Amino acid sequence: MRQHYDIVIMGAGMVGASLAAALLQHATALHLNIALIEPNPLDGQLDTHSYQPSFDGRVTALAYGSAQIYQQLQLWDKLQAQVQPIAHIHISERGHFGAARLHAEQEKVPALGYVVENKWLGQVLYQHLQQHVNAANLDFCTGATVTQAERLEGKMQLQIETGDQPLQLTTDLLVMADGGRSALRDKMGISYTEEVYQQQALVCNVGIDRAHNNIAYERFTDTGPMALLPLLRQNKQHRCGLIWTVPEQQGDELLALSDREFISALQRRFGFRAGRFTHVGERFSYPLKLQRAQEQVRAGVAILGNAAHTLHPIAGQGFNLALRGVAALAEHLLGAARNGQSLGDYEMLYQYQQSRLADQRATINFSDKSMRLFAIDNPLLALGRDAGLQLLDICPAAKTLFSRSAMGLASPMADLH
Ligand SMILES: Cc1cc2nc3c(=O)[nH]c(=O)nc-3n(C[C@H](O)[C@H](O)[C@H](O)COP(=O)(O)OP(=O)(O)OC[C@H]3O[C@@H](n4cnc5c(N)ncnc54)[C@H](O)[C@@H]3O)c2cc1C
Repeated sequence: MRQHYDIVIMGAGMVGASLAAALLQHATALHLNIALIEPNPLDGQLDTHSYQPSFDGRVTALAYGSAQIYQQLQLWDKLQAQVQPIAHIHISERGHFGAARLHAEQEKVPALGYVVENKWLGQVLYQHLQQHVNAANLDFCTGATVTQAERLEGKMQLQIETGDQPLQLTTDLLVMADGGRSALRDKMGISYTEEVYQQQALVCNVGIDRAHNNIAYERFTDTGPMALLPLLRQNKQHRCGLIWTVPEQQGDELLALSDREFISALQRRFGFRAGRFTHVGERFSYPLKLQRAQEQVRAGVAILGNAAHTLHPIAGQGFNLALRGVAALAEHLLGAARNGQSLGDYEMLYQYQQSRLADQRATINFSDKSMRLFAIDNPLLALGRDAGLQLLDICPAAKTLFSRSAMGLASPMADLH
């Protein structure tokens, strides 16, 4: 490894790896040296050729706007080999008549979004990054953890634990993409607000007895919202990705059920709109919270992804919001590099942060408020929600506004060319 990098990205999750891919497009031309530091090994995660869709992998709904970002990164051609387009979104509330339906065709886009298995997205990103390791613009350091960061003499001084010798290096900019439990964020005194929802998201893939017809369902129930996302078939089996939000204690009970009991419980709660559930893959559970870092930039530091904001997953917006942040930060950094400006320059980073605030506020409010609104058990409110969904369904202008926001097209797209 070098003694000094222009940019060090800590965390090669979906966010950190996407930022590395965005910067590397221009790294050779701009003579940028980048290090990506990740505690986990990459063993077995690079072979996109032998990839098979799985019943046990976590999935992400990528908004249409996110697909356009990956197109700019020249990754979409590869990614789209294993994604399932969402042609329709059906939003309803259990036990009520109101429903709203969004259609890609009406919004004049090829798809409202795409469902991708996280493992496939990771493999495509890592394989792409690996090519740049060979071209010497990137040091991809796995099995390593950034443990200390301090600004001294206009540079960030970093301590990195590798298992053998601790490393010390400097960088103009440290990008913290180390997730919602960022230990370094705490050490650096970057405070954050946290609201715990006292809910768990139960996540798994399920088999159904009929084609899903590219429909994504968003269903609000009195114990929490559920989302069912269309997935690629596996061995001729129709599959969907399920995100089922439940009160904390009920989550543990659902995890403890046998597969057959779980499928029956799911069928009772979701109904038969999507067909009969036949299989269930490995179940994962996540405690839900809304977390926001109070600072997202300092001189020499930028905070991205879950480390900056962790959202309720109900609207499937956390990663999409983070990816728009990745694109905006990359655009600012590439602009600064072209102008010979320091990449840790506070003014430039502050401009970046300001450019993201409106989108962050709108997306976080939408996820948080819709979750809370549908959680209130009040007949008058239920009537209002019913009417709201019906209105959305019949009013094309409202539908387009709503769809553009869900597709991640409500704020200007960064230019990464
Ligand atoms: C149930 C559920 C469903 C979701 N569904 C959707 C969806 O459909 N659509 C959507 O847009 N979003 C969705 N999200 C949100 C999405 O998963 C997150 O936005 C995304 O995972 C954030 O990625 P990240 O890279 O910021 O963090 P992480 O995935 O947590 O990655 C952080 C990385 O940093 C590394 N790291 C940690 N500490 C250090 C250190 N000290 N030094 C170096 N590296 C370090 C970690 O090993 C890890 O690789 C969902 C979330 C949940 C919980």
